[in-house]
Amino acid sequence: MLGSMMDMPLLVSNILRHAARHHGDAEIVSRRVEGDIHRYTYADLFRRAGQLADALTREGVRPGDRVATLAWNGYRHMELYYGVAGMGAVIHTINPRLHPDQIAWIINHAGDVHLAFDLSFLPIAQAIADKCPTVRSWIAMVDADRQPAAAIERLTNYEQFIAGGSTDYQWPEFDENTAMGLCYTSGTTGHPKGALYSHRSTVLHAYGAALPDAMGASARDCILPVVPMFHVNAWGLPFSCPLVGAKMVMPGAQLDGKSLYELFEAEGVTFSAGVPTVWLGLLQHVAQNKLRFSTLQRTVVGGSACPPAMLRTFREDYGVEVIHAWGMTEMSPLGTLCRLQNKHLKQSDEAQSKVLEKQGHAIFGVDMKIVDDENHELPWDGKTFGNLLVRGPWVIREYFKGEGGDPLIPDAQGKGWFPTGDVATIDADGYMQITDRSKDVIKSGGEWISSIDLENLAIAHPAVANAAVIGVPHPKWDERPLLVVVKKPGAEVTREELLKFYEGKVAKWWLPDDVLFVDAIPLGATGKILKTKLREQFQDYKLPQNDGA
Ligand code: AMP
Repeated sequence: MLGSMMDMPLLVSNILRHAARHHGDAEIVSRRVEGDIHRYTYADLFRRAGQLADALTREGVRPGDRVATLAWNGYRHMELYYGVAGMGAVIHTINPRLHPDQIAWIINHAGDVHLAFDLSFLPIAQAIADKCPTVRSWIAMVDADRQPAAAIERLTNYEQFIAGGSTDYQWPEFDENTAMGLCYTSGTTGHPKGALYSHRSTVLHAYGAALPDAMGASARDCILPVVPMFHVNAWGLPFSCPLVGAKMVMPGAQLDGKSLYELFEAEGVTFSAGVPTVWLGLLQHVAQNKLRFSTLQRTVVGGSACPPAMLRTFREDYGVEVIHAWGMTEMSPLGTLCRLQNKHLKQSDEAQSKVLEKQGHAIFGVDMKIVDDENHELPWDGKTFGNLLVRGPWVIREYFKGEGGDPLIPDAQGKGWFPTGDVATIDADGYMQITDRSKDVIKSGGEWISSIDLENLAIAHPAVANAAVIGVPHPKWDERPLLVVVKKPGAEVTREELLKFYEGKVAKWWLPDDVLFVDAIPLGATGKILKTKLREQFQDYKLPQNDGA
């Protein structure tokens, strides 16, 4: 027997309609690439997104067509998210930090029919326009009088583009499984692959992300997503914020510590989200200038492991709660977030910090398990590491255009699980902790050493600005850890002091075999340490003569 409730599809246009009706005066404040601050409301966003959807329809964009963006976080990018997806087409957000050739490859693979770009990315548009035959117009996201005089064929500007659309657009209703968004993985090896989100997966993810023990977003919040809208939909915030009616603050291109701090204070930001490298910059600015956060209450840190030292600084020095989060492009992206439960509140600060260092608890909707290399499930004891597998309604089933074949691993009942490529432990309470990417874990004498643990410990040293650990070949032990360190400006520390710093904190055989000091550690397009690059850089490196034991 079927239930007798209405079959109303879960569509992202309904999120925005809800925001416009119920939180119509909640603001979206954007720092524009042009340098000024722009303000409007969800009611304005709804109207202009409709105008864009109508203009796209008049331009011949059909349901299922891909419309691309190369853009920072801002109100026009929000209009594109909703206008494109709301009319049944697919919003394809491209990471502008990729190499232009890779961007052109992605555009051609996706077959994008229009591409909207922020002025900062004009050089990219100019470099690749001739190589992207499917793109019918290049839309500069500026006012009509600021359209650049660039040598790009089929160049227009956003305001002129939407001017032809009606503000009374009738949003269509269609199957909730329709594709709405496309995002390519960072692809450190080979070509990137596309994750194609549906309206249903995105709306369910927006609900899940907003829950109190996930991000805990509310209409009383003022939310500044530092995580870019070109990186897995800014972790879903462009959907969760209007869903709850939170004020949004969009930082545009200025993601340095000073610019972010000024925006936090000027707009009364209560909640933010970003990768650890961004927070390093912000915390340095705040410490150097002896500043305080007057409104910031909590921040989500994810994308790579949040160093425990950062968590403590936020918590103990500034009274800001850190919510450690884990996810991936293939998961829309949220899988777990770390919040305390009732039983932890009775524990010491130290014990609470230990829990908060983990990547956290699965949001309802994500099922996870750890398995060994033969796909046997491993115990949830907080110690045993295994390959982390997930399933759920916002987890990828296959890549765009079926690239790479079937990625899922079936269990005994034939249900498919997505292998995350991460190695993790899960404790008896269900808190997951990432030990490593399976490619980065250091395999020494048949045992595994966690590069993340060694990095976190190094970053806790007062003279260390950033650290990375890679495995280097060893004749006897297979691989041994090499610590690569960037010192803080003006700070001094020696190899011996750093190695001593590890003593008593890790097993003796985990100690790095050597320490190298460098000026910078290579970061990828989403702010993560590029271990592949580091391994290449140190491929001829020879470990000092010892047996590594
Ligand atoms: P991406 O798809 O580019 O967002 O990358 C996803 C990968 O980033 C995951 O599979 C993890 O390896 C890594 N990652 C994301 N969040 C965390 C975290 N909190 N701690 C450690 N690794 C993380």
